[in-house]
Amino acid sequence: MSTFVTQSSIAPLEEYIEEIRPIFESKRMTNMGPVYKKLQHQLKKYLDVPELSLFVNGHLALETGLQTFDFPTGSEVITTPYTFVSTTHAIVRQNLVPVFCDIDPTDYTIDVNKIEELITEKTVAIMPVHVYGNLCDVETIQKIADRHGLKVLYDGAHAFGTTYKGKGVGNFGDMCMFSFHATKVFNTIEGGAIAFKDTCYQMRLHELKNFGIHGEDRVADVGGNAKLDEFRAAMGICNLRYVDENIKKRKAVAEKYDELLGDVAGIRLMQLRDGVTPNYAYYPVYIDPVKFGENRDDVYKRLEENNIHARRYFYPATNDLVCYRGKFEIQDTPVAHDVSMNILCLPMYADLGMDEVERICEIVTGKTNGR
Ligand SMILES: *Cc1c(COP(=O)(O)O)cnc(C)c1O
Repeated sequence: MSTFVTQSSIAPLEEYIEEIRPIFESKRMTNMGPVYKKLQHQLKKYLDVPELSLFVNGHLALETGLQTFDFPTGSEVITTPYTFVSTTHAIVRQNLVPVFCDIDPTDYTIDVNKIEELITEKTVAIMPVHVYGNLCDVETIQKIADRHGLKVLYDGAHAFGTTYKGKGVGNFGDMCMFSFHATKVFNTIEGGAIAFKDTCYQMRLHELKNFGIHGEDRVADVGGNAKLDEFRAAMGICNLRYVDENIKKRKAVAEKYDELLGDVAGIRLMQLRDGVTPNYAYYPVYIDPVKFGENRDDVYKRLEENNIHARRYFYPATNDLVCYRGKFEIQDTPVAHDVSMNILCLPMYADLGMDEVERICEIVTGKTNGR
């Protein structure tokens, strides 16, 4: 038996069949049909956001969100390298320049004390990441953005259902992207969304994800195709029914890990910001090679030998990826570099058994396999 870092949550087949039956009857399979609209409505409520545009995946949601702002080519976007490649790629693919800010060593989100020194006359936006379903310092980020006239687009791919002081995470910044990929807390198989407040973005997002088509004979923008189809929307409607229960189960897994690993010398757990109710999307541990006596890769290998597939997520940092070599200096973000070298995401999903969590922790700490 193998245990993987994640296992997708999927609603019962019968429920899905019920939900897709009307699609077969109407033969309306995509282009923002009734199932799309139903999911959009339900998600707006669940995420507690004023406006929401659904996409075929989170990455194209990010790219389309950026495109909506019409930044001049070559403008700078302040972001962090401690993220999934998608964040950095979205900026580069939109002909913008990522400027990497370092991260906070305790919660791995953007270090707000280091943002302002990176602002130049070319800076147009900040794109922080709500890493692991934790939350950035949204208040300070907004103050900085207001002071310098910058847009804020959050990569909230991990943060579905996270709240801050009782407010949905999608309420912060000009926009917040969510990913509904199969491995995320909530999924539509592949899917994503942009949450936003200002209704001026509504039509533009809608058109840009549909080739820029404005009317039957008018194409006003060079848009792409990033529409969420009816079948994926139906999967979302089914999976949304289970998401609260799943987050509750994830919480129990996280608490078990906390209990078993919280006092182990050399293992550092992620800190949550005050006021955050997380979604327990991931369970990252920082392994201090000196205090723990082994490095991250030793632990990773020992887990592999026991058929437990943890992930070195995020390693490498995106400013150290082969495709960006020579363009950025990883030494500019020493904390992100250090964390990426020492982090390990342990298995975390709703149906992970407590016995399995115990076994994983024993292998991590070396109580089995003779360390
Ligand atoms: C998953 C993810 C994305 C991309 O989302 P997709 O839906 O897979 O396109 C972007 N950023 C981060 C941090 C992610 O984890």
